Amino acid sequence: MALDIPDWLHHMPKTDLHCHLGGSIRPQTILELASQNGIKLPADNIDGLRQHIVYKNRPRKSLADYLDAIKICESVLTTPDAFYRAAYELCQDAAAENVEILEVRFGPTNYERPGLPLYTIMESVLAGLEAGSRDYPLHTGLIVCGIRTDIQKTAEAAELAVNYQGSGVVGFDIAGKENGYRPHLFEKAVKPVLHNFLPITVHAGEEDSVASIAEALIYLNARRIGHGVSLRESPKALEYMDNARIAIESCITSNIDTGSVQTLSTHPIRTYYQDGLRVCINTDNRTISDTTVTKEYMLLIEHLGFQQKDIYTLAKHGIKAAFMESKRQRSLLNTFDTWARATLEPEQLERDNRL
Ligand SMILES: [Zn+2]
Repeated sequence: MALDIPDWLHHMPKTDLHCHLGGSIRPQTILELASQNGIKLPADNIDGLRQHIVYKNRPRKSLADYLDAIKICESVLTTPDAFYRAAYELCQDAAAENVEILEVRFGPTNYERPGLPLYTIMESVLAGLEAGSRDYPLHTGLIVCGIRTDIQKTAEAAELAVNYQGSGVVGFDIAGKENGYRPHLFEKAVKPVLHNFLPITVHAGEEDSVASIAEALIYLNARRIGHGVSLRESPKALEYMDNARIAIESCITSNIDTGSVQTLSTHPIRTYYQDGLRVCINTDNRTISDTTVTKEYMLLIEHLGFQQKDIYTLAKHGIKAAFMESKRQRSLLNTFDTWARATLEPEQLERDNRL
């Protein structure tokens, strides 16, 4: 079956392992939730709101400003129904582009307030994801984020993640402003997570140097690294990551939006891929970066010289990097290969004999 590339990309079973709930709420939903719950936004219509939250419309480029745009979106997450709806609609959006593994992340301690305890927040999001995975053909998992600027809250988030392990939580993450908050600061806070064999991913090397990635590996035993842009500074680090099969969660548009990478053509993903790293493609914040996994793959083809056979390999990296039991991963890899054999020429199916 010969499909043109956009069709092929649309139909390809995909993963999105680095996707923040707060930055991926539909603009229309943000407006409706604000109106229902009396929350003030900088605009009361879609076009006006998009000027504030879709990052390419904003004049400055920095991680701090990017995080400010996310704050506008997540200001509407104030009720159990709002969390449920945001999570459920994210499943709908991912399923619409044939994402088959969706790992959603958020920092529950950011939203705690009188009348809205942490367990209510967690259970609302988990219920939304569970309903999404029941109504659509996708597997969902929740990654609980600790907050870089607050060690105590990160420790609370770590305990919370462990409490919901096996009930939808599949991993733990450290997120937020990176500079000045090196991973070693959270060594003690994440201990319960490690002691319970809950896998950890860490935002590292997005605005800080490769030393931040080294610390994520040393002190937090990270199994995946979010962004990892500064990995390009060190051939030794690249080799280490390759040998250890530690995955890089690449988020191309987000890296341009935050100024972490200056232009698409200079994004290090090309090097990472050629060096054999387990790099996978993700959205980060679907609303803020106005993107989908399909759009991210299209950027690789249009701007970075990737071909279908490369996309095929990257998509498999996503399945291999997912925080799920290996039996299910193997089954999804087999299904993926069957699909690929039916849609690609034999010479496009490069033998991927890496673990
Ligand atoms: Zn992120």
